Amino acid sequence: RPALAWFRQDLRLADNPALRAAAEGGRPVLPVFVLDDAAAGPWAAGGAARWWLKSSLAALGRDLAARGAPLLLARGRAEIVIPALAEATGAAEVLAGRLYEPWARERDRRVAEALGAAGRDLRLLTSTLLREPETVRSGTGRPYAVYSPFAKSVIGMGEPEAPLPAPDRLRPLATPPPGEALDSLPLYPVPGEPDWARDFGTLWQPGEDGATARLGRFLAGPVTGYANGRNDPGTEGTSGLSPHLRWGEISPRQVWHAVRGALPKDPELAKPFLGEILWREFSYHLLFHRPEMPDRALRDRFAAFPFQPDAALLQAWQRGRTGYPIVDAGMRQLWRFGWMHNRVRMIAASFLVKHLLQPWQAGSAWFWDTLVDADLASNSASWQWIAGSGTDAAPYFRVFNPVLQGEKFDPEGRYVRRFVPELARLPDRWIHRPWEAPAAVLAGAGVALGRGYPRPAIDHAAGRDRALAALRGLPRAA
Ligand code: FAD
Repeated sequence: RPALAWFRQDLRLADNPALRAAAEGGRPVLPVFVLDDAAAGPWAAGGAARWWLKSSLAALGRDLAARGAPLLLARGRAEIVIPALAEATGAAEVLAGRLYEPWARERDRRVAEALGAAGRDLRLLTSTLLREPETVRSGTGRPYAVYSPFAKSVIGMGEPEAPLPAPDRLRPLATPPPGEALDSLPLYPVPGEPDWARDFGTLWQPGEDGATARLGRFLAGPVTGYANGRNDPGTEGTSGLSPHLRWGEISPRQVWHAVRGALPKDPELAKPFLGEILWREFSYHLLFHRPEMPDRALRDRFAAFPFQPDAALLQAWQRGRTGYPIVDAGMRQLWRFGWMHNRVRMIAASFLVKHLLQPWQAGSAWFWDTLVDADLASNSASWQWIAGSGTDAAPYFRVFNPVLQGEKFDPEGRYVRRFVPELARLPDRWIHRPWEAPAAVLAGAGVALGRGYPRPAIDHAAGRDRALAALRGLPRAA
């Protein structure tokens, strides 16, 4: 009897345990993707992620068709669609990579129940993480709340298993049920409408081949200098694998082993990068154990934080018009390419929450809509960490100074000049503090502060003092 291979966040053929198990013994397999926005509710994929998903599904469809079993696209409630497909095809079971988002776990429970009522199984296999959240526990048997001991514990469990090869050939169903056309799904770009994501394609190639190529590019260059290169937003010092990992076009195991293999003589060099893969892992484990993480402060005392929601300030930040060049460059990189360098994500997020006193949830919602790599675990964990309300040690009183951060990590202003062209001709000395530049320098560089490029939305020292005063007003930790 055939099996359904239900693709969700593992849009790849290699190292895909669910696809492999579905095709076991040469049985016929129906690969399926279901767009189920209703189940995800507010966490349905945002705009930029929907751009990614559309091309990723196109790539997956091509790759599956080349192996003999075309992808069936559907939309609607998975607990209805999946059991109906199983019924129509006489499938014995449904296989999928396990998911950790609270809404997805709840949905899988409903799907399993509906399938079970007809005597069928939903089998969930480890696919998007290195380790299952239940298996990483502290000495007292509790999940870790802090990154370092978590990472140590995962490393102590030994190297992850070697990745599985992609299946050579898949046996299709003789008469697969009809599916939807990719263009009929509500994804982006919408045929015939203006394409706000027009520059995305110059940077990204969604799909498994794109992920493999991106990994190859990283291994051929930046990987050896990653420890320092990752902090320079003006160069390509990081892997750029985040959206590929987000959609599972490559698995963390594949990345892990490839990076280890590329640095055989110097395992120490791999550590900082593998540490980031473990931050991703940690974020997922946290989300699993603390499902309220996307919405509510993990530290109770922060629930009372006196944010001052202000639509105009939020919009200035969203549009890259705060008057702080490094923040604005980051926000414009995000809009243009659906991605922002990690160092700048930290500076821009901190600025929103601490200097502008806007709720971190407003920032995370904007990232959710604009990042191609938006993932509920990493996005929520990172915002809580920046806001100081997360479980990890990130002292709230550390308020990034956006000028000093810019001068430290973008000393020649290469990054700022690229994304804030109004400032391109300012000398290095003022590139991160244009309001301090003499009038003649501004005029010479063609900068009209307050008209072309904005003045700072808030003075740094005043913003920092206000944030610290707000913190002092919070109830003491229990
Ligand atoms: P690399 O430096 O090459 O790292 C390799 C991989 O490790 C990344 O692809 C990513 O999967 C993982 N990783 C790296 N840093 C982190 C981190 N701090 N937390 C979790 N995983 C990490 N990352 C997302 O994937 N999705 C998000 O929605 C997201 N939102 C963020 C929001 C804020 C406010 C901040 C400060 C960070 C956020 N990050 C998020 C983490 C990080 O910025 C990105 O993963 C990273 O910039 C991706 O670029 P890269 O692939 O070149 O990273």
